[in-house]
Amino acid sequence: MNIPTGWQIDIGLEIHAQLNTKSKIFSGASTLFGSEPNSQASAVDLALPGVLPVVNEAVYAKAVRFGLGVSADISRVSAFDRKNYFYPDLPKGYQITQMDLPIVSGGHIDILLEDSTEKRIRITRAHLEEDAGKSLHEAFDRYTGIDLNRAGTPLLEIVSEPDIKSAFEAVAYARKIHQLVTYLNICDGDMSQGSLRFDANVSVRREDSDTLGVRTETKNLNSFRFLERAIYYETVRQIDRLEAGRSVAQETRLYDHNKDETRPMRSKETATDYRYFPEPDLLPVIITDETIAKIKAEMPELPTQRQQRFIEDFNLAATDAALLANDRNLADYFEATIKNSQDPILSANWIKVELLGHLNRDAVSITDSPVSAIQLGDLVALIQAGTISGKIAKDVFAALWTGETSSAATYIEQHDLHQLSDPSALEPLIFDILKANPKQLEQLRSGKDKLMGFFVGQVMKQTQGKANPQEVNNIIKRLLQETV
Ligand code: MN
Repeated sequence: MNIPTGWQIDIGLEIHAQLNTKSKIFSGASTLFGSEPNSQASAVDLALPGVLPVVNEAVYAKAVRFGLGVSADISRVSAFDRKNYFYPDLPKGYQITQMDLPIVSGGHIDILLEDSTEKRIRITRAHLEEDAGKSLHEAFDRYTGIDLNRAGTPLLEIVSEPDIKSAFEAVAYARKIHQLVTYLNICDGDMSQGSLRFDANVSVRREDSDTLGVRTETKNLNSFRFLERAIYYETVRQIDRLEAGRSVAQETRLYDHNKDETRPMRSKETATDYRYFPEPDLLPVIITDETIAKIKAEMPELPTQRQQRFIEDFNLAATDAALLANDRNLADYFEATIKNSQDPILSANWIKVELLGHLNRDAVSITDSPVSAIQLGDLVALIQAGTISGKIAKDVFAALWTGETSSAATYIEQHDLHQLSDPSALEPLIFDILKANPKQLEQLRSGKDKLMGFFVGQVMKQTQGKANPQEVNNIIKRLLQETV
């Protein structure tokens, strides 16, 4: 990526996280994703006359949890406002949000830079609001469909200060937020379902300038990659314009991932355009110190704590612990695996190499892994018990992955893959192999230990990988002592 020199970039992110409550923020309708359009839109979501919103208490606990997770101030009094705008997927003609008294103020997230140093990104605020419905422009010819199932889904909008200075930092920050909200269990983090969406405010200025440049806001980026590409495109576009003596217009833009470019959507509204005013149908919400203390006491384990526990309880290497704790779903998978395998280190290795290898190769997420934690745990237990060799276990894993079998034990039985550890069965075989390779045997006798690998390899070949390598080693050593 080539960004012209002599410029600095200022980026602030607004992140909309869908809170994972069962029902909506102001109605009892379900928030379930993927149902028949408009089957989960209640009278409140449809904005029928005479209905009134009722706040879903669960959203407060989740917002407070986030605030505590980023060391922010929790407002003892917060209130809702109306943000007025007109769009077909917003039947009320306004969005209920928090303007003057957001639930969370301040706080910060520390990100890791490319040179492994930490950088602090300040959080301005996080407020509660409702999601809008969806306009389906492609479902019908010459018509736009409106699906109000999403209308009223609770959102936590997390706003950062313009402390982010590159697309890399923006992605690092966004990933940290994703990690935090999933660990806090306040958002499922499923980007493919729009559970986390990014708006990027980007501006550029000359390196010696102290004032922020005019910014554009690129809305609704729903993947880390699109976030990175959109910021890159905007940065270069703005610098090109300014270097050509033109200006940057303050506007809202959309990123087109097919063309990998942003384009204008509308000129930027200001707060007055939205005619904010206090929501008259809802009272301010008061949160007591006792409530906050209770939520604090019930805070789930955070990534760094989990990593530490993996090192202390399971003896994992720091890098393995960091890798496994980094993603909550992966960490859960690891802990579920060792319930069956009873061997944390071997399980960690199998997850690191085989499982992550297959997941990356086939671009499958851990939650959709065709091999379950129970299945992998069983497989690792079989290796641990010496029932199969590590080499054979790879074949069994592959069979589990493709769905050829659902049980490692059954597969081993069916294909007669039991590890050969019985000396009385292995010895004659090894004896013959030593006899058949006199030159190599002579070298081994004269102290060339490298030849050990050659003979073990020959035995593995003969047994189709079923011999127990440790036992083979022992037998070869013993036979060398005796006369061969
Ligand atoms: Mn918003």
